[in-house]
Amino acid sequence: MTESLRSLSQSSLQDYNDCQRRFELRYIQHLAYPAIESEPALENEKHQQEGEYFHLLVQQHLIGIPAEQVSKLANTDNLQRWWENYINAKDLTGFTHRALRENLSGLYTEITLSAPLGKFRLVAKYDLIAIGNDKAIIFDWKTYRKRPKNEWLHIRWQTRVYRALLVQAGAHLNGGKSFTPEQIEMVYWFADFPTEPAKFIYTADQYKRDWDALIKISDEITNASSFPKTDDLSKCSYCPYRSYCDRGIRAGDAADAELETESEELFDINFEQIGEIAF
Ligand code: SF4
Repeated sequence: MTESLRSLSQSSLQDYNDCQRRFELRYIQHLAYPAIESEPALENEKHQQEGEYFHLLVQQHLIGIPAEQVSKLANTDNLQRWWENYINAKDLTGFTHRALRENLSGLYTEITLSAPLGKFRLVAKYDLIAIGNDKAIIFDWKTYRKRPKNEWLHIRWQTRVYRALLVQAGAHLNGGKSFTPEQIEMVYWFADFPTEPAKFIYTADQYKRDWDALIKISDEITNASSFPKTDDLSKCSYCPYRSYCDRGIRAGDAADAELETESEELFDINFEQIGEIAF
């Protein structure tokens, strides 16, 4: 059943975790989302496109294009606000922009890493990996409307995969020597909550736990004979595949910040999938 599936990513693993049926529809059957017709969905789509564009602006800035020039491209209210927050984030995750550019030996933007995982490749596209002072800091820019709780972020597959994969596949960024988990930190920076980044350090125990879990889940997917629908109906509230599953046509009301954030992520056909297609 999974013969056509060659790579796994934080998004596909998160979908598998949240609902195996969604994982099957999205990554095995490659089923396009049904037409988006409701107003909140259109609004979500616009927000998601602005989010992608914001990533592009930051990338341009980090590869050396002057801020004044990049700022001219911030041409919507959201983009202007996010860009100003980014530029004014003097303590952006502990470093000023200047320190980021001058003290750290390597800034790798929009970099893809991959490593074998069972019969798959595990693939991740990073917004920024900043290397220097014997540390590697993974930055991820988020344009969520609400600031999710650290507890929620901590258990997301993104937080686990990005750190584990940097240990596993990042040696070429460190003079040929693998990073130790203790050298790695992951930082989510929220464009609408610029003074409230979420930071996650890493340890050898966490890395072992994460990599063991990744191997287990890849074996499980390889051997799966079916991909059942989730029993947790809250996962269906915002799922774009509701109409395929007889789980309602209309989107539900977001009961809490985390659920709304999950719904934003579901609309996020992000750059990462380009990496998945390439492998
Ligand atoms: S609607 Fe519910 S059961 Fe169907 S794919 Fe989405 S989350 Fe899974």
